[in-house]
Amino acid sequence: MSFFKLKNWKQTALNSDIELYGSSELQSYVENPHLNAPQNKVLLLIGGVHGDEPEGVVLAEHCLEWLKGQNLQNWLLIPCLNVDGYKNNKRTNSQGVDLNRNFPSKNWVHSPNQDRYYSGSSPGSEKETQAVIDLINAFQPRLIIHCHSWKPCIVLSGPEDMKEAQYLSESSGYEVVPDIGYPTPGSLSSYGWIDQKIPIICTEEQEHSDLSQTWPRFASGLKKVFQDNSDTDF
Ligand SMILES: [Zn+2]
Repeated sequence: MSFFKLKNWKQTALNSDIELYGSSELQSYVENPHLNAPQNKVLLLIGGVHGDEPEGVVLAEHCLEWLKGQNLQNWLLIPCLNVDGYKNNKRTNSQGVDLNRNFPSKNWVHSPNQDRYYSGSSPGSEKETQAVIDLINAFQPRLIIHCHSWKPCIVLSGPEDMKEAQYLSESSGYEVVPDIGYPTPGSLSSYGWIDQKIPIICTEEQEHSDLSQTWPRFASGLKKVFQDNSDTDF
């Protein structure tokens, strides 16, 4: 088998399991944090940061099904990060926190706790956020892609000419944009790209769209991204 599956890799505040999959050569590094994991090689894909955006979970799940039949290296995939939010079709996690405002970036700000963008009691306070931070600390991924839905676009927080964003744009027909049009302190993009120079791509599918169309739209682009990342010796 060319991939591993950790069904209870991490737990949420409500003790729900967060699953992690990856190419088999990476399993020992995930399970033994004291080993020196390969740096700047891994492609990490995350679905379900926002629980009310099923397009992102469906895309991650389809991508995973495809990856299981390949023999590619250097990848990790979380099908659904915000497990409790997803169960309840809620943007935030069980603590009312918008996980994409909870990363401990330099620009993290406190926001009102009834807010749709509630950033949490402190930077990185949430267990789901911490799970992603652990992977970032261990692997310093070469690229992180997280899958959302709102208005169709590919948000690139990284080098302007990054070919992976172009692949996803060509595949989906969605435009590459440098930001979402409003500030997102505490976002994965802030923490990853602004603070640590890890490129972050956020795919935004049309919200409330036909879920059967999301994978076909992104498939050719995502396949190229994962194949390139496996083949290239960075
Ligand atoms: Zn979202």
